Amino acid sequence: MEKISCPICGGDGFDLLFKAQDNICHIDGEFDIVKCEKCSLIITNPRPDKEEINRYYPKEYQCYNLNHSRTELVVKLRRFLGRFTDLFYSETIILPLEETTPIILEIGCGGGNFLYEYSRLNPQHKIIGSDFNLEVIKALKKQNLDVFQSDLTSIALETGHVDCVYGWMVLEHVHDINKALGEIGRVLKKQGKFIFSIPNAASWEFKLFRGDCYSNHVPNHLYHFTPKTIKQLLKKNGFRIERILYQKTLRDAVESFRLVCARKKYYRLESVLSWNLVLFVLTYPLAFVLSIFHKSSRMTIIAKKYD
Ligand SMILES: [Zn+2]
Repeated sequence: MEKISCPICGGDGFDLLFKAQDNICHIDGEFDIVKCEKCSLIITNPRPDKEEINRYYPKEYQCYNLNHSRTELVVKLRRFLGRFTDLFYSETIILPLEETTPIILEIGCGGGNFLYEYSRLNPQHKIIGSDFNLEVIKALKKQNLDVFQSDLTSIALETGHVDCVYGWMVLEHVHDINKALGEIGRVLKKQGKFIFSIPNAASWEFKLFRGDCYSNHVPNHLYHFTPKTIKQLLKKNGFRIERILYQKTLRDAVESFRLVCARKKYYRLESVLSWNLVLFVLTYPLAFVLSIFHKSSRMTIIAKKYD
């Protein structure tokens, strides 16, 4: 385990908010979620170091699975609904670009779902993927995808090479976050875009469920950003936020509620609450209202590199 200083302000003073456990893969350990006294950044501290963290990414880790049928469904949805897709499906977005043959990089590409989604919709664009997990990269290479292994402390691409970098639920997993943002800025062209999603620690769900909050996902999530703290971190590393989209789904909240049910041994209620289309439709109006008030559990950030 390693104890770190605040990656934004360098401070060493933290207040303990609560303790949490790995609610996804149920690997042992209890972790402190703390808040920086100076800048309010919330982090998992102490945290497993770069070697220790590997055991929290077992083979069955959900993000390593390619779900072809789901990806095809998203592609159909985007073709049918166009830009209105973002109203109903916001796990990923695709930004229209002026460049006709842009180069796109996805960091933390996992099972390759977004690589497929993007290349099916934009076959003329060049999309490259990276992930820190070598096994994942080997599997994607067998499918002839343009991918490379990287923990983002150095990205094997030329300076100013990329038009747009995407990263879905990845930044909160990165150990050397300032170094990673520096590298993302380096490989981007002037005015290049960095589009990514992260959990929102300013959500009602984070405050209500605390250790049972599904999107905490400790110890894999090393940071628990709010709109204010991600803005500070990006500014420090040469990015300006153009827009924050607050995702319109209560999926994480339902999962948090299921975790509470499991802990209290309400197994029947837990199984009834399994996320499905009916629950999505029923909870959509509330999710929509929460997004207006910036209280959704996940946010998608569109940031621009400034020079
Ligand atoms: Zn701080």
